[in-house]
Amino acid sequence: MPEDSVTDRSVCPVPVIAGNWKMNKGPDETRAFFDAFLGLHPPRGDRSVWCFPPALSLPAALLATRDRPDILIGVQNVHWETAGAFTGEISAVMAAQAGARAALIGHSERRQLFHETDSEVARKTVATLAAGLAPVVCVGETLEQREAGQLETVLGRQIDAVLDRLAAGDARRILLAYEPVWAIGTGVNATPLDASRAHAFLRDRIRSRAGEAAAGRIPILYGGSVKPANAEELLAAPHVDGLLVGGASLEPASFARLAGAPAPAR
Ligand code: PEP
Repeated sequence: MPEDSVTDRSVCPVPVIAGNWKMNKGPDETRAFFDAFLGLHPPRGDRSVWCFPPALSLPAALLATRDRPDILIGVQNVHWETAGAFTGEISAVMAAQAGARAALIGHSERRQLFHETDSEVARKTVATLAAGLAPVVCVGETLEQREAGQLETVLGRQIDAVLDRLAAGDARRILLAYEPVWAIGTGVNATPLDASRAHAFLRDRIRSRAGEAAAGRIPILYGGSVKPANAEELLAAPHVDGLLVGGASLEPASFARLAGAPAPAR
């Protein structure tokens, strides 16, 4: 597989501030968002901004950001096959052909509402890498699992399923997003200490499974009720290399504040 520039930090510096728009914003609203956002967030070399609009709004997002190489556009989901009888699905190859450079994989809404399994998440990750896109693999525990003391078991199982399928050398081309399910869309974010501990666990697991080069390079983003008011303290937490933001990425002024939040150099 070709070396991917997206996970090369000289091309895409960390922190990565990513917006997951979910099923919000058609092409018209996408154009309006970037009309406002681009003026509020001038390019800067010490971070990357990624946006994941709905697939139908990809062309509008790409056109709006054509003069802003600092903003990367991705899709929210792909199928693991390249083509075939899978009505309603899109493949990573098609997403790449349409101009996407990254894909969210295994978001908790996909896992919970659409019953995606660890094995499917792993297959999607492989397909995404094969198409030359950067997979942002989402992992995270439910409140029930956390309260039962299963945080590390769940995160370990989710990350192992992906690492099991990756060829040597490919592990360092993914990004991870730690998104505790209980924090998504609830207004209750993980504390910086909790996020940091979970990220450290994931990084250790990558180190033991894929080596130091991968562990040192893979950006691990935190997601779950990130807002302008808590972004700085989350970004300051050790092992937090960026943010994956849902609700607060939908409004240009709010996303611009997140994109401009102070962050230590990593
Ligand atoms: C998400 O959907 O990835 C997310 C983190 O949502 P929110 O920021 O709204 O909690």
